[in-house]
Amino acid sequence: MSNVFYRSRKSYPVAVRAEGVYLWDDTGKRSLDGSSGALVANVGHGRAGVARAMAAQAERLAFVHGSQYSSDVLETYATRLAAFLNLPGARFWAVSGGSEANESAIKLARQYHVERGEPGRFKVITRVPSYHGASLGALAASGMGARRELYAPLMREDAWPKMPKPDPGLTGEQDADRLRAVLEAAGPESVAAFMCEPVVGASDAALVPNAGYHARVAEICREYGVLFISDEVMAGMGRCGVPLTARLHGEAVTPDIVVLGKGLAAGYAPLAGLMAQGHVYDTVMGGSGAFKHGFTYAGHPVSVAAGLAVLDIVEGENLVAAAHERGAQLLAGLEALKARHPQVLAVRGTGLLLGVVLGDPATGQSDVTPGRAERVAARARELGLLTYPGSGAVDGVRGDHLLLGPPLSITPAEVDELLGLLDQALTDA
Ligand code: PMP
Repeated sequence: MSNVFYRSRKSYPVAVRAEGVYLWDDTGKRSLDGSSGALVANVGHGRAGVARAMAAQAERLAFVHGSQYSSDVLETYATRLAAFLNLPGARFWAVSGGSEANESAIKLARQYHVERGEPGRFKVITRVPSYHGASLGALAASGMGARRELYAPLMREDAWPKMPKPDPGLTGEQDADRLRAVLEAAGPESVAAFMCEPVVGASDAALVPNAGYHARVAEICREYGVLFISDEVMAGMGRCGVPLTARLHGEAVTPDIVVLGKGLAAGYAPLAGLMAQGHVYDTVMGGSGAFKHGFTYAGHPVSVAAGLAVLDIVEGENLVAAAHERGAQLLAGLEALKARHPQVLAVRGTGLLLGVVLGDPATGQSDVTPGRAERVAARARELGLLTYPGSGAVDGVRGDHLLLGPPLSITPAEVDELLGLLDQALTDA
């Protein structure tokens, strides 16, 4: 009997080796990681350079406590990250995971308004469906039924007004303009922030809003005195083929707070955080003089060293451009699969954050009976391809889609191999 508390009763393969886009288990079976774990392993597996940077940092300076010091590696990293994202003047707040990062963003937004003498602004508008994290606050902010019900009551429900998901049938501006009605209904003087994923991840199969959406959202937020939080935990760090995902369509938009995770240290260490624009930082520091919030392991030097080594790889190997190019190749291949497999209703996404929307060929609708995506994913796993079946998109609880997001370092030949395995899984399942 195992003493490990697994997420479910199914047994888990035990990984013994990992390299590039491949993982090997203890039976010798090799799998192509088509979803980078949970869209984490952006630079691929087995990067000895990242491990060496972490070891060197641990040897040189390993804190045995957190939060009372900065470190040279953190100072360097914050500067490098602001330059990579093209967010001059932004301040990096480091934490250990995406949920902590979103909790931090929500608290920062609330404190920002308190310091401005507007303590009544506590609500955070989010979308349905959406996933912002597993901790109770981030889960309350999320627009997904499946995980909420089991843990109710969450934080007070009226604190999270909901906006509909992006509608590709509207122009980006018309789509974003729907935020006005949500703000008016919530009472604008009670709203602290609007938070969204610029490309929706697990909850809606890489749904991408049209050009103009984020610029208009930022404009409306400014008009109403509300902060714009871009949750780029999954879509960020180059995965969508751009450094800052809110600028996906080339818009000159700068969110007040950008939340990052997963790809920051690409799974090598627990590292996430947020980038706060100068005006947010200055307002908070100019009031109480401190952000009254923190976590013990925030900015741990070994995690930050991993982040720095990962950023070296992302920049040195031009992985943002690679995500754009390999993403176009993978999307074209998925279009070809869609033409041959009637249960594939749509394929979409950008860069290497792509979604395969499944459904009943007879009705042309995604099915609320759960199972199709899991069946395809299970068959793919047997064949040696890992994918990420999502939930939420169909009725806010269940999903009928697969998310694909291999490491940004995937080669053209490996993209073809991925497509061949998915083709077979769709045929068999
Ligand atoms: N935001 C988004 C958009 C995510 O996809 C996730 C994780 N899937 C999170 C937040 C939470 O991150 P973590 O699991 O690291 O807490």
